[in-house]
Amino acid sequence: MKTNVTTDMPLKIAIASGKGGTGKTTVSVNLFHFIRQSWTSRVALVDCDVEEPNDLIFFPGAKLLSEKEATLPVPEIITDKCTFCRKCVEYCEFNAIVVIPPVKFAEINPSLCHSCGACLVACQDDAIIEKPYSIGKIRKYAVDEQAVIVEGLLKIGSAMQTSLIKIVKKEPVNNAEVILYDAPPGTSCPVVTTTADADYIILVTEPTPFGLHDLKLTVDLLRELEKPFGVIVNKAGLGNRDVYDYLEKEDIELIGEIPFDKKYASGYARGELLSHIPEKMENIYRQIVQDLKEKVSDYA
Ligand code: SF4
Ligand code: SF4
Repeated sequence: MKTNVTTDMPLKIAIASGKGGTGKTTVSVNLFHFIRQSWTSRVALVDCDVEEPNDLIFFPGAKLLSEKEATLPVPEIITDKCTFCRKCVEYCEFNAIVVIPPVKFAEINPSLCHSCGACLVACQDDAIIEKPYSIGKIRKYAVDEQAVIVEGLLKIGSAMQTSLIKIVKKEPVNNAEVILYDAPPGTSCPVVTTTADADYIILVTEPTPFGLHDLKLTVDLLRELEKPFGVIVNKAGLGNRDVYDYLEKEDIELIGEIPFDKKYASGYARGELLSHIPEKMENIYRQIVQDLKEKVSDYA
């Protein structure tokens, strides 16, 4: 039976992994699917893996609701006013400005600019103005009347992954009661930005030496951020028991284990993740959602 959470604010759950290939996308779309079925229909999945968003692939019937440019204010030098003093170059920490006085050349590279505004402060000659510069797109899709998927698509060559994630997370999500953030892999700034306001974080790992190595890095990060988190072991049955020993030693909660299933994995490759879910897998996800519902409400 469907029940709704009672808080006014949406519950925010981020799904992250220290490395790519652990099955973070699989877990994200399955949680979205089963939360819709057994928790609340008002759920949003926000794909923050803006360099390679792929959650939408598994919802072929989703309808595009909106598409817009994600822009940042980027400075432009008016060469007629510029005295080529190079003060702006000294202020720019991102090496985005080139000024060559002998040939009266001054230019800002928008793909390196982080819109910090320092060059505007530096310039005493009013030679810098700001213009909107696109760093990518934000698309919103309806899966049904209440469930939405939002994805950010970073412009090729742009280094503004973190800025785009911030913009994507501000996209309204139709009064969702639960918001899932599918984080980019890794432990750098984009992951911190994705998880910063999450009420709870699910780390997806696999029982292999690589999985354990990257899990440790992510656990260190989340402990530093003082965020509540638990772990889902994907591809359970492969590899060894080291991940489980680590979780026990560090007193980290094991939220669930998703067994490795070759047939199911090939469904992922065909984009058919949700159409033929083995019963065993379905029961596991339903239990995870049930546990999450009880647990996460305490953190919100
Ligand atoms: S806004 Fe900041 S990053 Fe961009 S060019 Fe100016 S100083 Fe450099
Ligand atoms: S600080 Fe202003 S005047 Fe000086 S080089 Fe930069 S844009 Fe030109």
